[in-house]
Amino acid sequence: MVKENCGVVGIFSQDGSNVIPMIIDSLRALQHRGQEAWGIAVPNKDPMKKLGLVSAAASEFKKITLEYSSPSAIGHVRYSTIGKSNLENAQPLKVKDLCIAHNGTISNVEELSNLVGGCTFTPQNSSDTLVAAQRLVSLISEKGKFSTALSILKNEMIGSYCFTFLSDDNSVYAARDPRGFRPMVFGQKEENNSYIVASESSALSAVGAKLIRDVNPGELIKFSKNGMETEMFSDDNQRTHCSFEFTYFAHPTSKMEGKNVYLARKRIGQYLAKKFPIKDADLIIPVPDSARPAALGYAQEIGIPFDEGLIKDRYSKKGPLRSFIEPHQSDRIEINRWIFPINEIIEGKHVVVIDDSLVRGTSSRAIIKALKKAGAKKISMLITYPPIRFPCYAGIDFPSQEELATFVNGKDISLEEIIEKVRSDIGADFLGYNDSENLANAIGIPHDSMCFTCTTGNYDSLGIKPSFKTRIELKGE
Ligand code: SF4
Repeated sequence: MVKENCGVVGIFSQDGSNVIPMIIDSLRALQHRGQEAWGIAVPNKDPMKKLGLVSAAASEFKKITLEYSSPSAIGHVRYSTIGKSNLENAQPLKVKDLCIAHNGTISNVEELSNLVGGCTFTPQNSSDTLVAAQRLVSLISEKGKFSTALSILKNEMIGSYCFTFLSDDNSVYAARDPRGFRPMVFGQKEENNSYIVASESSALSAVGAKLIRDVNPGELIKFSKNGMETEMFSDDNQRTHCSFEFTYFAHPTSKMEGKNVYLARKRIGQYLAKKFPIKDADLIIPVPDSARPAALGYAQEIGIPFDEGLIKDRYSKKGPLRSFIEPHQSDRIEINRWIFPINEIIEGKHVVVIDDSLVRGTSSRAIIKALKKAGAKKISMLITYPPIRFPCYAGIDFPSQEELATFVNGKDISLEEIIEKVRSDIGADFLGYNDSENLANAIGIPHDSMCFTCTTGNYDSLGIKPSFKTRIELKGE
């Protein structure tokens, strides 16, 4: 399991309706992208920010809706890839009259901070978004035009970004990085004549809005009383959509790059069955929840029964949360403690257990142990994502290499030997990983239009040659 950084939303109502109830509902539908903090910004006020899940503040929704009543707003759910997990670093942020919400990671934030008046950035007390926002605001005041400022900033900034912005004149803006690392879509709700832009279409569905299309990589969109205006701030045609969104992060109901995520995951399972046809298995089970469609696809393709052998306890405090996007190892262990096997389903069977990814190995180890205890005769584990061996500098939090299950400390050993090391470490009888070609074919997006950097170590798409840092250096913890 893994963790993704953030979800963003922006809404503008042309008939002047209060959009705050829609913002709250859309943030709830993006909660799977960040569980640490959330916030809302409206024009001419300081942003409102809270720690924890959006639903934890349900008793305050009425008060928030009245207090922040506005026909335009942006919102954010946060998972930290850079910067500590605290309220100060929660978003949206406000710099002068511009509020900003960011999904992604700016990986050259130290250099960028030199352009905004000296190197004041430290991971302990700041966020990459604040530095980008300060630089953007200074470029807008210098150049006068939003798109010109962004076209300069994109050359200075390395990383991934989907931004929503809000200005004090009520306009909502959205911008997606030229490579399209992170997803972003927009739509319309006819009922109150409003536009909504969000990280995923699950947010649009939550408020009854109709999906219009993806925001194009390198596109800046403005929603205001004049309707929608769009222009390109980059003419880069190379795409590097994050492949990991399709296996783990994104909501199964979402549609991104024209592909429904649930159906893509089911196809990934079907393609995995062609790569690893484990015909002597008795049962196919998913690791709940993101791997469920892939396990179903695998089972249907190979003709072996699918069942729920593991149940995530939704009634414990941490049970419903996603373990990868929890910031601390102790919380991830706590979440995995609340995945229970059903002994009567597992006992005496050769079980193929399918998971979306294997990052640290924390959850796989716990799950294999639990399945053995439940009496499984044999456990074959299949992973829908290829081996993750390198840090992501484009928005996903597996930043330090030594944390990865595949870490071999510079030893010159083959991929097969690495997989064998992981298999033995997690205790499975067999371990099979998907490969990137098979994954891209199943998703239905050309391999060269997707990012697989965390599996290859080729950082050309970001134009960097990183020197890998420890978690303490990156996050100050
Ligand atoms: S490095 Fe991996 S997780 Fe990061 S954007 Fe690329 S595919 Fe996604």
